[in-house]
Amino acid sequence: MLDTLGNLERTHTCGELRESDVGKQVVLMGWVAKKRDFGVFTFIDLRDRGGLTQVVVSEETAKEAHVKAKNLRGEFVLAVRGEVVSRADGTHNSKLATGDIEVKVGEILVLNEAKVPPFQLEVAGTENLASEDTRLKYRYLDLRRPRLQHNILTRAKAVARIREYMDERGFIEIETPILLKSTPEGARDFIVPSRIHTGKFFALPQSPQILKQITMIAGFDKYYQIARCFRDEDLRADRQPEFTQLDVEMSFANAEMVYRVMEGVFGHVFKLINVDLPEQWPRMTYAEAMRRYGSDKPDLRFEMELQDLSGELTDTDFSPFAEVLGKGGEIKAVVVKGKADYSRKVLDELQEFVKRYGASGLAWIKLGDETTSSLLKVLGLGTIERLASTAKAEKGDAILMVAGKKSVVAAALGALRNEIGKRENSIDRSAYRTLIVTEFPMFEHDEDTDRYTAAHHPFTSPMDEDLELFKQAVENDAEHHLLGQVRAKAYDAVINGYECAGGSIRIHQKEIQALNFKALGMSIEKAREQFGFFLDALEYGTPPHGGFAAGIERTCMILCGTENIRDVMAFPKTASAQDLMMDSPGEIDGAQLGELGIKVND
Ligand code: ASP
Repeated sequence: MLDTLGNLERTHTCGELRESDVGKQVVLMGWVAKKRDFGVFTFIDLRDRGGLTQVVVSEETAKEAHVKAKNLRGEFVLAVRGEVVSRADGTHNSKLATGDIEVKVGEILVLNEAKVPPFQLEVAGTENLASEDTRLKYRYLDLRRPRLQHNILTRAKAVARIREYMDERGFIEIETPILLKSTPEGARDFIVPSRIHTGKFFALPQSPQILKQITMIAGFDKYYQIARCFRDEDLRADRQPEFTQLDVEMSFANAEMVYRVMEGVFGHVFKLINVDLPEQWPRMTYAEAMRRYGSDKPDLRFEMELQDLSGELTDTDFSPFAEVLGKGGEIKAVVVKGKADYSRKVLDELQEFVKRYGASGLAWIKLGDETTSSLLKVLGLGTIERLASTAKAEKGDAILMVAGKKSVVAAALGALRNEIGKRENSIDRSAYRTLIVTEFPMFEHDEDTDRYTAAHHPFTSPMDEDLELFKQAVENDAEHHLLGQVRAKAYDAVINGYECAGGSIRIHQKEIQALNFKALGMSIEKAREQFGFFLDALEYGTPPHGGFAAGIERTCMILCGTENIRDVMAFPKTASAQDLMMDSPGEIDGAQLGELGIKVND
């Protein structure tokens, strides 16, 4: 028989009691985290959101409770009434916030029983954790673990801080619909069939992009929303099909004004973990970031900049290098300090690593007692030594080189830099390094179709300095390739190598918007079909405006120190976009399909 709660009210959480509470009569409620049976004494670790408290039940002073305690198992739900007693006798547990006290129980109410959980909840750290799939299936149990409780709580606090910051600065929270029409972020849409309009479909928002711009046209001046976004993309470790953004838009704003809001809001949020981010973040253009780090989101917690060796090799007769340089490619390197002793095996692994990013191989120089190199025979010692000095390498260092197209060299060495940073522990884990990357390219070139796509989205404004170039490239077919050089008023906020936010100043004039659709190879009819309502809106007095969106999950991953996005979401999906607890996506019955006018192919 279970006990009932009746009028009993808890007086404290399981994380609250301290030495100063000794002598108080208290009521705690929570789950049995652990039970230890010592015959006449039974010890219970009682757990709730607040933490753990040790509860002791003595046969001598609480006979009935002691009998009940014998039959308790993990995850049973209890109320306990008792007196706070000191553990100053030397038994205190310094690992526990409540470790100076315990509760000497007078009465136990067993409010509910629990089946034996399919995995152990009380494991320290991540060792011995059950598989993630099992934990996702029983997410409600997994979420009871203190670490996930902490993460979800941190997330709630972060969002509360965001709202506080934005509200104080006159931003208005405006909700936009989830049942929408295709939006322009360039990923695949999630589609919802309409029952009332058979054969027609809503799309879930990839972001509220167009609607937030329309709130500017509608005169709201400063908008924000904690917005849910849906993108049907191939999943990666730090991606989920649905995620949450802080979405922001401002009228009459230039890029610097937007940066100040990004800096301010992140600064306010990071105070949560007692980290003071700089008031003004360093800025770096996209071009510089790519040149120095091979990445548009460089992790600045360690140095290891890319070194350009192309200049030293312009006259080389080593044909693979000559060919690369002849085609406008590059030869660049990273220097790994003190690693002249890299073994063949490690170099082979790193070689395989860069190949995943499209590099044809990895050449190396090792400045050990003797200088050795995979290129010694073909380049000769003199050239090798010159390369080492251009790369600013010193005795004891290893130099790792990649040759190829600029984009491949950047991708391969950018990733290798991060990989080595991790391998060699060169990342300062206690540091928080911020950066605003500016002047992103306006377009990406798709080599297969020889077409240009929007690097950010099609409403991003070109830089004033590049407007003429943009017009020239759009209006003259022969100069279309110049689109690749047009820079946009687009920017990202980066913390510790994570892209935490991105945005742009938008196009607010319909002529430039029309040119942009043309640049993207989108006929005006096609553009009208997709965004006609928005093009109309642009014609009714659109203020200059711009904004950004910040990833709530990414931000919380940094706040919580995890690389797993599922650690900061209460109910995430697996890497293959399934919810294992609800078993979704699931099938729907024939009648429902019929109503929607949909037939599923076998
Ligand atoms: N809508 C953009 C995104 O989701 C952000 C922005 O441009 O404001 O990435």
